[in-house]
Amino acid sequence: CTPGGPKVREENILVTVRIRPLSSKELAAYDLVAWDVTDENIIVSKNLYHERHGGLYKFVYEEGARDVALSALSGINATIFAYGQTSSGKTFTMRGVAENAVKDIYNHIKFTPEREFLIKLSALEIYNETVVDLLNRDSGPLRLLDDPERGTIVDKLTEEVVKDDQHLRHLISICEAQRQVGETALNDKSSRSHQIIRLTIESSLREDSECVKSFLASLNLVDLAGSERATQANTGGTRLKEGSHINRSLLTLTTVIRKLRNSKLTRILQTSLGGNARTAIICTMSPALSHVEQSRNTLLFATSAK
Ligand code: ADP
Ligand code: MG
Repeated sequence: CTPGGPKVREENILVTVRIRPLSSKELAAYDLVAWDVTDENIIVSKNLYHERHGGLYKFVYEEGARDVALSALSGINATIFAYGQTSSGKTFTMRGVAENAVKDIYNHIKFTPEREFLIKLSALEIYNETVVDLLNRDSGPLRLLDDPERGTIVDKLTEEVVKDDQHLRHLISICEAQRQVGETALNDKSSRSHQIIRLTIESSLREDSECVKSFLASLNLVDLAGSERATQANTGGTRLKEGSHINRSLLTLTTVIRKLRNSKLTRILQTSLGGNARTAIICTMSPALSHVEQSRNTLLFATSAK
């Protein structure tokens, strides 16, 4: 009797850091790389920036959310976050995570013929505490309902049954396009909105056996609002409102998402966090000297989330 799920490492929370290369904009501005990275440590380059920003941050550099994603195949809820300041590489990273997750999931399905899988996808964006369906933007703001059995659910959120890996890639690309639709209408919105792509993975054994017969879990891929909002003091009406909404969501993450229940992001993810759920937080940062302060905040967050 095989347990059915893929073999994965079992840490509940995995925190990694990904540093992108200098962007063309940064290069054009003669910006410098401020961080020394070894296999396990990220250090502010001594000769560049002294004392004030100094510190040693220990991480496994850019290592996998794979095990976290795969655990959803064996009934364990999994969430992968990208956290970091705007333009640090969150969306880039989550695209890669989604691509790899699609490959891994369908690879596992292919080599697990004894099980039947049912995968569904839903996707939403939270902007200013307003929840929008990325598979059906026209449906307007969605409400959250508290279901006694299932916990918080998003009322009327579209759920597409995924036919195969091609279909899944297609659906993910629709979500991305939909996210960009809102983007052009509202400049710089991505830095202020959270996006969640949720895969619900159900599987059952085709024949009777001693093994666990059915699994049900969700895999959440979360592209968070820019982390600068969590530390920056915003001024003025809307900005302040947005700032505090995003703050609430991100502060929640700082305490690794277990306790707070006061923002829609946390409410939506609540059932997927805590318990034996797996969480991966990929902290993205720019290597640039000009962003050293924000990157340092990101590393402090990463350290506290570990
Ligand atoms: P964010 O979503 O955090 O605002 P993006 O993912 O949009 O940031 O990344 C900002 C820019 O940097 C994009 O042009 C993206 O293609 C590029 N970029 C991000 N991460 C990497 C990476 N690891 N390697 C190469 N380019 C990257
Ligand atoms: Mg982005």
